[in-house]
This record gives sequence, structure tokens and C-alpha cells, in this order.
Amino acid sequence: MEKRPYEFELERINALIKERGARRVGLQLPEGLKTVAIEIAAEISTETGVDVILSGSSCYGACDVDEKLARTVDILLHFGHSENTFRKHFLSKERTCAKKEYNSFGNAFLSKKRFVLEENYQEKVVFIELRSTVDIKPVVESAVAELTGDCAGLVATVQHVHALNEAKIVLTRSGKKVIIGKSSNVTYDGQVLGCEFSSALVPCDEILFIGSGSFHPAGLARYTGKRVIAADPFTMQISIFEPETMRKKRYGVIARARDAKSFGIIVGMKSGQFNLSEALALKRKAIAKGLAAHLIAMDEITEASLLGFKVDAFVNTACPRLAEDYVHFNKPVLSVNEFEVVIGERGWEGIWP
Ligand code: SF4
Repeated sequence: MEKRPYEFELERINALIKERGARRVGLQLPEGLKTVAIEIAAEISTETGVDVILSGSSCYGACDVDEKLARTVDILLHFGHSENTFRKHFLSKERTCAKKEYNSFGNAFLSKKRFVLEENYQEKVVFIELRSTVDIKPVVESAVAELTGDCAGLVATVQHVHALNEAKIVLTRSGKKVIIGKSSNVTYDGQVLGCEFSSALVPCDEILFIGSGSFHPAGLARYTGKRVIAADPFTMQISIFEPETMRKKRYGVIARARDAKSFGIIVGMKSGQFNLSEALALKRKAIAKGLAAHLIAMDEITEASLLGFKVDAFVNTACPRLAEDYVHFNKPVLSVNEFEVVIGERGWEGIWP
């Protein structure tokens, strides 16, 4: 069989299924890897005899555990994200926030029901990080020519964090000073998420990102204000992301929202994106400024799901990157900080603090 580019840890998975005596197993893969879902499900099923249920819902991050499927199966295998990140970055925030808000509605039944289910599903979810098996040295050697300064911050998605020290050796041999940033918000040194870039806040003007796609490097450039060189070890492609180019896209959206008189405040209902307290606070701020504001809860935030609501603009309290890079919306969809600029509570320079 052809070697897979990611380590699916099937031996560990099969051993775990047998050890726990599981009969029904759920599989949740990120969007880009759904093409191998059938193959992985067949291998697990053949080896262990379990019924496998594939999650057909979207999956963009550790924030996005398929909670409903977790209730239905004995084990939910969530691929592509790290467990500690889920617990540190999403779960604690959600639990604290959700508990406070549900209690503020005085709805004890809803609160109790949700948290009983949460406790159950937490034990069932097993995170498989999908470490890459590809050699990153060739693409790092190619990327050296694009680094204009003497110093570079080095970051990666969880799939490549184990290879960052190899990348550092290549860069150091080329005369570069390299810093792999540490952050208590993520599991590994140098790790970045689509909405968590603190390990890139190092004293260098440029960041070398190891990974695939434009989602992470575009966010890195926009949020850190640094020039980002993205090196994809699978395609050997090198791409450059300039911070001002990334930021300009948002300036136009903010400018369009300045005439809005009514706002829909979106509350994301995905388990790690729920932030009702922030949505309520924004609603109060809008009303204090003489604007109309309405809370709108939804799982998937798409142009079609926003279409029917008669407001001038939206504020998104769910995934902060959604409106920036995932989806094109006709009406302005602002982040929380962008909304605060629109209502005069934040300066433009404070959008990406
Ligand atoms: S960027 Fe969005 S989808 Fe990705 S981890 Fe953060 S909240 Fe989740």
C-alpha cells in the first residue's frame, strides 16, 4: 500500500477500540481529508468488527467536535487537531461561559442537560493529531531565498511541529537566527491554530510557516503584522503573505459597515465557538449607541443562512476567521474588534492587538 502522508495511528486506534470494548465508533476528519474517510473507516471496521459512522458535518478545528455524533457512539475519533489545545483553548472557555449564561437565564434544566452530555462526550473523544510523514528539509531549503532578514520566527500546524527543530537546523546553517516561539495557549512550541498565533510573537520581522493552504499564513500575517513566508512540504510551493495586503481586505468591510443602523449578532453553536456572554455584551453596546441589535444563533454561518435576516450588517462571535477567509458575504460581517471600531469604541490600530 502507498505510504500515507499523515500518521493515522491505526494500530493505536484498533488497540483502544478493543480495550474499551467499543461497538460503535465515530470518525471526524477535517474537510481536506474527507476523501480518505471511507478507506480509514473500512480498515478500522475490518480490523475490529465495529460499526463506523462518519461525520458528514463540517470540521474546521479543535473547536468543532461533532458533539451530536459523540453522543451516539462509544468512541469519537477526531482527526487533525490536538487534545490539549481543545481543552486549553476551547473547552474551558465554553464551559465557563456557557454555564454562566445558561444560569443567567435561570434555565436549570437546560444547564443540567447540556453539562451531563458534555461530561459524557469528553471521555469519548479521542484526538489523533495526524503527524505528517513527509520530509520538510527540501522545502525549508527553498524557502531560505525568500527570507529577507537575518532573523525568522518558525511556526507550523500540529501536523509538522515535530519537524520544527530539523527546519531550524537547515535555517541556522544558512546563517539565519531562528526563534521557535512558546505559548501557554497551545500544546507545542511553534504551534499555531487558525485563531491562535501567540507563538509567532517573537522579536523577528518575518515568520516562516510550515504547512499547507493559505488559511494559517493569511491569518498570521494579518494578526501579527509580520511578513509570512509559507512553505508547503507536500507541494513544495512557497508563498508570501504581506500583512498590509491581508489587512486592507478588512478595512473595506469595516468602512461599508459604518452606515449600518441594525446588526445581527451571531452566536456560534459549535461546541468550542459558543460565546453568548460576548454576544450579549455587544448587543448592549450597540443599543447604547442607538443601534438596533438582534442575537442570531446558528451552527453553520453561510451566506444562505444570513440571507433572510433584515439587518444592515452582522457581527460574528463564533470562529473569528470565518468572515475573513472562509466565506464571501454580501453584507458586512465583522469581527468583535471590527465592530468596536465601527461604534467608536476602538481605534483602527487596535483591531489586531
Ligand atoms: S480558526 Fe476558527 S475553525 Fe479554526 S480553530 Fe479557531 S475557531 Fe476553530
